[in-house]
Amino acid sequence: MEFYNTFSRELETFRPIEDSQVKMYTCGPTVYNYAHIGNFRAYMFEDILRRSLEYLGYDVIQVMNLTDVDDKTINGSIATGVSLDDYTSTYKKAFFEDLESLGIEPAEYYPAATGHIPEMIHLIETLIERGNAYVSDDNCVYFKVTSFSDYGKLAHLNMDGMQAGARVAQDEYDKDNVADFALWKAWDESDGDVWWDSPWGKGRPGWHIECSAMSFKYLGESFDIHTGGIDNMFPHHENEIAQAEAATGKKFVNYWLHCAHLRVDNQKMSKSVGNFYTLRDLFDKGYEGREIRYVLLAGHYRQSLNFSFDALDAAKTSLGRIDAFRLRLKEYSAAGDEKGTLPMWAEKASVGFHDGISDDLNVSECLAEIFDMIHDGNIAMDAGELTAADGKKVDELFDGFNKVLGVLDLPEQTIPAGIEALVVQRKEARDSKNWALSDEIRDQLARMGWEVKDTPDGAKLRKA
Ligand code: AMP
Ligand code: ZN
Repeated sequence: MEFYNTFSRELETFRPIEDSQVKMYTCGPTVYNYAHIGNFRAYMFEDILRRSLEYLGYDVIQVMNLTDVDDKTINGSIATGVSLDDYTSTYKKAFFEDLESLGIEPAEYYPAATGHIPEMIHLIETLIERGNAYVSDDNCVYFKVTSFSDYGKLAHLNMDGMQAGARVAQDEYDKDNVADFALWKAWDESDGDVWWDSPWGKGRPGWHIECSAMSFKYLGESFDIHTGGIDNMFPHHENEIAQAEAATGKKFVNYWLHCAHLRVDNQKMSKSVGNFYTLRDLFDKGYEGREIRYVLLAGHYRQSLNFSFDALDAAKTSLGRIDAFRLRLKEYSAAGDEKGTLPMWAEKASVGFHDGISDDLNVSECLAEIFDMIHDGNIAMDAGELTAADGKKVDELFDGFNKVLGVLDLPEQTIPAGIEALVVQRKEARDSKNWALSDEIRDQLARMGWEVKDTPDGAKLRKA
């Protein structure tokens, strides 16, 4: 398997530290609001990554943190007059519901920052002892960037013009602001009742230290893969490397993978610009999790993806083609035994799919293989050249592909009672050979968006 490692800016063959186990850390949401679908692009890419690794036989241990203390969560809790815990638990709950609607496999661990303050304090103490951090006059602790000669190696920064001693207290800043960054922030009035005791007095951790401390706890000091959206590369991931490697003297992470942004009208989808949609917004417009999942996975993760409703409608059409084929294949192969083999066109798709995901998660290639297979499969069924047993094998191949893509399963259809009643009336009309009425009911069903097909096993209903 090959990945584009942001660290080297090259495609590299993936070799985990342990033979068959992969440890990966994925930066999770700041739970101050509903996540938008730009955020979910990042979580979807990580889902495809984890599922692909599993497909190729690895055991995956994935950690995704929940940032439940920072400026934004504190401001939100104060503005709404509820405790920080109550405020963030609403958005944690919504986040997990959203992951489920998108069919994202759960990570093994979802550590919350507020549950790991002692681990962060301990790591900060180590950094002070080793001369990589210092306490400022106002009882904050800063990481001393000049103490770590490799600083800038991920984001490829030129450190020549850096001003020694300049400090930033915010968690997010741009590349021109390279400076000592806060590990611990002393309490001030704007923090309200949010603070923890520490050797430096009342305060709270910075954002970056959270991920280093929690990844150490769950994955160890060195692990295989670390991911996030490209905006996380600097300063967040650069700072994570500095904190971790300064504390341990060991290489922190072997492969850094970053996804490009989801954009709207050529701007990054983000809360601050206001051009964002949450999943809830899209559900209200009648779209389903599966369609949104399809849009988010269909482009290559390193290319920016422009969000549009046209893309969602196209996803609906593509999924309709997949469903129609799977339904036909299932009916066609229902009587088949277990002794089939894959026809050549399906064997080709199987190899192509494997090559596609191994090639830096080339999902578009995998989808192209699937649509080729649908084309060839329909021709083979039309010509009666596919045996029922071989058809079963093709169906199983789809199940295997679905382990990675998670959109290929036929959705369960709930048939409204009114529709069910019309189908019964139509059957009665057919039983009494009233073909005119039967056709009339069929047309009525079609106008209501349901297609009815008569088979030897009775009438089959499908959403048109
Ligand atoms: P945040 O809650 O802002 O810390 O972001 C959570 C995750 O979503 C991070 O991995 C970000 O890099 C990622 N992210 C934020 N906005 C976008 C976007 N428009 N497209 C893709 N990923 C994003
Ligand atoms: Zn992080």
